[in-house]
Amino acid sequence: MAERVGLDGLRLLFTDTLMEDPDAYRFLIEGAANVFGLRLSKKMKVPSCSEFPDFRDRPKWKHFLDQLSVEATAHIPQLIWLKDGRDVWEVFFDERFLGNSRLDPCSKILKRRAADRWLVENCDPCNTICYVGIDFTEAHRFDDGRGGGLGPRRALAGWTYEAPLCSEPWVAKWDVMEWMRAEGLAPPRLYALGFSHNNCFGFCIKAGHAHYRLLLQTLPEVYSYHEQKEQEIRGYLGRDVSILADRRNGNRKRPITLRAFRERFEKEVAPSIDDSDYGGCGCFIDQSASTE
Ligand code: SF4
Repeated sequence: MAERVGLDGLRLLFTDTLMEDPDAYRFLIEGAANVFGLRLSKKMKVPSCSEFPDFRDRPKWKHFLDQLSVEATAHIPQLIWLKDGRDVWEVFFDERFLGNSRLDPCSKILKRRAADRWLVENCDPCNTICYVGIDFTEAHRFDDGRGGGLGPRRALAGWTYEAPLCSEPWVAKWDVMEWMRAEGLAPPRLYALGFSHNNCFGFCIKAGHAHYRLLLQTLPEVYSYHEQKEQEIRGYLGRDVSILADRRNGNRKRPITLRAFRERFEKEVAPSIDDSDYGGCGCFIDQSASTE
């Protein structure tokens, strides 16, 4: 789009959950610099994963991101880095609700509302086009042909959205990855670890069994953190809620905590889980079953 529409007036909008993978922040900054043809190497050092503080030390982690966002946007002013100040778990606690595959207060508050508010405060719908990265393999998320999807929904609010990857020349995710490498940009590491998206450090409230097995196997400390947070919110709400659901033995759907899910892998050689259940992270894009 930078080549097509030019750089004047182009802005890149990032809504930070304060819980992204360190390499996602690296990619964000290097990618934004690439779009605007900036050579950052002499101006700032983009931190590697090992230079980030421990994500479990939340005050330190957030302070680090504050400094990083200030430095990055000073060098790339066209990068708009929005932060609510809360992460997804703080939103769940504040809303007294653990999100699920249908209801995502995290994405609603930290991403959709934040982006919508920025647009209203900074842009004129008459001369603004919002480009999103949905590709043709999930084009229904942009426009399902029945008035649903991001494009028609935002059009109702007066905004023009376009999804360039849903039309010719049909550039798919794997083509984008190759293009990135040709530009000297390393793709975000979560893809190499097997994740289907680069959101929330491998976590997602909408993810399923297969996704959490991958998280447990590849990023056990991240899994452990969310296991602990799930236990905390269960105690806080006083309810039998969980991220995952269990349908073993044809049983009706019932909650299974991340702790119980992990213990299955410790106790059983080949625990029966739903191997095909990766869940569907339509973060930012999908309107949840709630109101917006
Ligand atoms: S990736 Fe998942 S957990 Fe993170 S904000 Fe989006 S819906 Fe919520």
